[in-house]
This record gives sequence, C-alpha cells and structure tokens, in this order.
Amino acid sequence: MKCIQVRGINDFIITEAPLSNPMVDEITIKVLVTGLCRTDLKLIRDGHRDLILPRIPGEEVVGVIYAKGADVTEFNEGDFVYVYPGIWCGHCPACKNNAENLCREMKIMGFHRDGGFAEYVNVPAQSVIRLPQGLEPELAVFAEPLSCCLNALEIGNVRAGQSVGIWGAGPAGTLLYRAARAMGAESFSIEPDERRRILIGGYETCPDRTFDVCVVAVGSKHAYEEAIQKLAPLGRLIVFSGLSFSDDRQMTVSFNQLHYLEQTVVGAYGCCFRHGKQALTHIADGTVPVRDMISHRMSLYGLETALKYVEQRAGMKILLYP
Ligand SMILES: [Zn+2]
Repeated sequence: MKCIQVRGINDFIITEAPLSNPMVDEITIKVLVTGLCRTDLKLIRDGHRDLILPRIPGEEVVGVIYAKGADVTEFNEGDFVYVYPGIWCGHCPACKNNAENLCREMKIMGFHRDGGFAEYVNVPAQSVIRLPQGLEPELAVFAEPLSCCLNALEIGNVRAGQSVGIWGAGPAGTLLYRAARAMGAESFSIEPDERRRILIGGYETCPDRTFDVCVVAVGSKHAYEEAIQKLAPLGRLIVFSGLSFSDDRQMTVSFNQLHYLEQTVVGAYGCCFRHGKQALTHIADGTVPVRDMISHRMSLYGLETALKYVEQRAGMKILLYP
C-alpha cells in the first residue's frame, strides 16, 4: 500500500509498505479521508514527545472496514467508521478516572503506532466508532479535533449562560467557538488575523471585558498572558494549546490574583473515547457545523504543499485523500 513515512526530523517519503492482516481484535480500515492539523506539522518539522520513528503519521481517520480479526463481532466489512486515535489500558489511575487520554500506557495512532496517512491502517476494534447513518466521511473527520475541544470545554466545566473567550480562530478555535455555543454558552473570539475571522461573526480584538472561561487555542505566550488577565472571578483558564520548543514558555502568573478571585488554571490535552461519540453526534445533527471549515481537498501525496499551507495559516481545514 502507498503511504507517507516519517524517517526523521523534517524527513518524510512517499513509499510502499506491506499491508499486514489484522490481529484477532483488530480491524483493517481502507482510509477514505484524513485531516491535516498543526500537530502533524509539529510532528514532521520538529518531532514530538510521543513520536517513535519511523512512522506513518495521521491521527484523524475516517474510512470503511476492509477486513477484521476473528474476535471482532460488533463491526462488519463495509461499515463506515471513525477511529479514536488512542489505545488505552483501562486499568491505570487515569483510565479509572475516565481520562484515558492520560493513560500511562497510551498508544496514539500516528505517534506510537502507524496512522492514517496511508491507503490502509490496522486499528484495534476498541478504538472504532461507527458513523451515524448518512454522515459524510469528510464531515466525520472533524470528530477528532472537535473531540479535543469537547474535552477542553468539559474540563472548563462550561455551562449554559456562561461567557467563553477563545483566543485564536483557526480550526480548533472555530470548533471551540461553535461547540461552546452549542452548549448554550456565549462565545467570544479573540483573533487579530482578519482572514481567520471570516467564519466567526462576532469577535473582540482586545476585549474590554472578562470571561467565565478563557481557552487559549493558539500557541502564543502573549495570548496566555492576555487570557489570564481576562478571567472573571471564579474563572477558569484552559491551557489548550501547547507552546513550541522555540517559544519562551516561562511566564509570570499572579498567585494572589488566583487566590483573591478564586480562579483556576487547568490543562486540556487530547480527548477521550466518549468525546468521539459526542463529536460525531454534534456533527451529524448540525449543532456544530463543520462543512464551511473545509478550505482544501488534496491528494495525500501532495503533503509537502499541504504542510506549507498549515505553516502559513493559509487555509482552515485541509483534508487529504490517499
Ligand atoms: Zn490506562
């Protein structure tokens, strides 16, 4: 099968790899569409904490079941499915706490094991979710980034009627904006780039107000410094975007501000299996619209060009077809 293989930092090739048979508890998926995100850019250009080389990347996968192992009973060949990118142990403290994204034995597709930048990928049946009836694959592929947003809003304890300030209006920021609104909260977008504000109606450049929840969806130290100043009493700052290796990641936080205003700073990383199901439901019933976010549909083998678009923030969501 044809695939993309990352061999080192900023070194990937288009190559042929053998397609192995699924193990008894695995499913072979024929990849229909895969999404490209900033994490892939970071993984290819800079490496990543969880990356083991050589590797086929790709953690946003929607496809059709091509073959299955002998123990797989709940799925059939021909089913359209989304793949939750993690494999978790189910018995460590994080797993028992319903936070399998933090499982100490977590294996992530495209990082620890081969992902979907290929014609086929083998995944454990445990990680597979059938698409809601009639949902188009290219919309379902948003389930992965949307899941990460739902995890962040869950950690932020976002409730109806609350105000949520979201820094950055890229793909993640836009999904956060729409998902918070779907939960009955009032969303505000803080995004200086005019091209990025197109999909979001109202925005604030330097908001003269505070928010119950602030989510930083842009890898910028400046955004974090601004967001913490915009927290309301009892407010929660969600550390959604990591900062790159080249950033200065030290910043000053007033612990007295947190103390007097009873504020919380909390991280959010990845997503759990349940968020995949929730995300697919939101996409299928239209409570979180995604179609207008697709800016490019490209061949998987034009990856270098696609990466440049992500680098230049030239598009919104880029979909790749093997
Ligand atoms: Zn675990």
